Amino acid sequence: MPNLILILGDQLTTDISALENADRKRDRIVMAEVHDEASYTNHHKKKLVLLFSAMRHFAQRLETEGWQVHYQTYHPQNDAQSLEAVVASQLTETGADRVITTECGEWRLHEQVSQWHERLGVPVEIRPDTRFIASKQAFADWAKGRKQLRMEFFYREMRRKTGLLMTPDGKPEGGQWNFDADNRRKWAGKPPAPAPFRVEPDEVTQEVIALVEEHFADHFGTTEDFHFAVTPEDAEQALDYFIDFALLCFGDFQDAMSDNEDWLFHSILSPYINCGLLDPLAVCEAAARAWYAGRAPINAVEGFIRQILGWREFVRGIYWLNMPEYARENRLGNTRALPWFYWTGETKMRCMHKALDATRRNAYAHHIQRLMVTGNFALLAGVQPEEICDWYLAVYADAYDWVELPNVLGMVMHADGGYLGSKPYAASGKYIQRMSDHCSNCHYNVNKSTEEDACPFNALYWHFIDRHRDDFASNPRMGMMYRNWDKQKPERREALLHRANTLLARLEQL
Ligand code: FAD
Ligand code: SF4
Repeated sequence: MPNLILILGDQLTTDISALENADRKRDRIVMAEVHDEASYTNHHKKKLVLLFSAMRHFAQRLETEGWQVHYQTYHPQNDAQSLEAVVASQLTETGADRVITTECGEWRLHEQVSQWHERLGVPVEIRPDTRFIASKQAFADWAKGRKQLRMEFFYREMRRKTGLLMTPDGKPEGGQWNFDADNRRKWAGKPPAPAPFRVEPDEVTQEVIALVEEHFADHFGTTEDFHFAVTPEDAEQALDYFIDFALLCFGDFQDAMSDNEDWLFHSILSPYINCGLLDPLAVCEAAARAWYAGRAPINAVEGFIRQILGWREFVRGIYWLNMPEYARENRLGNTRALPWFYWTGETKMRCMHKALDATRRNAYAHHIQRLMVTGNFALLAGVQPEEICDWYLAVYADAYDWVELPNVLGMVMHADGGYLGSKPYAASGKYIQRMSDHCSNCHYNVNKSTEEDACPFNALYWHFIDRHRDDFASNPRMGMMYRNWDKQKPERREALLHRANTLLARLEQL
């Protein structure tokens, strides 16, 4: 009897555990573009193009290599609109008596697949996703007994385990674990940032673009200027391009933002790592080789590896350790609706407009835009975590629940009560001014706080500090903020709170 092997849209590698010990002659691989997965959120059009095209290329490759593949292309009138329906019909067609798959990355789908053995009446073998460097169990073992989980300690453990950037006698290369303090330079246009790596759409991608334009016209974003890689070979080239042209400055300008530059020195590899076109450990090893070869400085290479080996693995561990309760957390009691300009980009706040517009055009914004601009604003304004999480899940080409949720709910919104991060990343306009040139082109004045044309981040920041005194005043990392707030004259405090309340009452007009 054949096995049905289900491969999901973010599992596009022949190393996926579902394919282990599979028999090309006997087994059938199932891949499907289904309505339920394409529409459970308002996915950016470029994300849909990336995934459908990468899936089609992967299926073609499997067939060329002699696998039997059932591939369902998207059509709104398909009989099977869910993965379960596709698998059920394939069970009937092939007479297969077993389904094999690799665990999926989202709780929502995981719950469904976990019930398939009962609903479909055959055994469903769900294998661990071995693409992650730390298994779920290894993370759970590390986290056991710790009240708070801190990425830095997990990361050091991962460096020791993998040997990445470690000397033969077990010390961190360069004499330090973390070079973050060197990675905070503002970028003033020099050295010029490389253009993003581009792959021109081939026939398959063009067909998918037409399909997305026809059937997902009301989804967020645009398909214009689609240039993502959709095969492992092209994704490898994107990695080489990053190492050749951007890694050198990645560290220095990691936190910088610019009015004229969407991508700066970031790798733009997350869409590929997350869907299986690139292997995370191999990406880290490539960066480490660049350091040993003297092609990039330690602050760049360590900073880059920390994002993948540290943050990426850490947030995934947090997600699986705490779902499904984690998604419901709202410890700061936020109730505000997400302002509509998150979808349109129409706001006079220059930093927000730039981040939102890049997001709409590219299905990409770099980390500091996500954290310190769109995220920071949502935190200061007290947006409901569920609404801001849904937005982040929809708008980025790299967004999957397991990575988006801890980043937004934990890191940005502090809605988990500090489980993931020791303090909220709340900041006034001063931070954005320090790290970018946005303020000099803004309708608002970053040096003002209470006037009509004052930067909204300034008063909202103090409003956040004031309204969350009970949550943060005893946090050692926040004590200075409260001392600064308390030192201000009562009239000044009142004026700041008044300005913030006015802003909150007309958020949509900002
Ligand atoms: P680079 O800056 O070049 O970093 C290198 C790699 O490190 C990335 O490709 C990514 O794989 C990894 N990485 C960096 N930071 C993180 C992080 N905090 N968590 C996990 N991996 C990280 N990343 C996603 O992949 N999907 C998401 O849905 C997502 N949502 C985010 C939401 C918010 C509010 C924030 C603050 C961050 C989010 N991130 C997410 C993390 C990070 O912003 C993106 O991974 C990064 O911007 C991707 O661009 P890049 O490949 O150019 O990254
Ligand atoms: Fe953003 Fe304020 Fe600067 Fe305008 S002045 S760009 S709103 S930080």
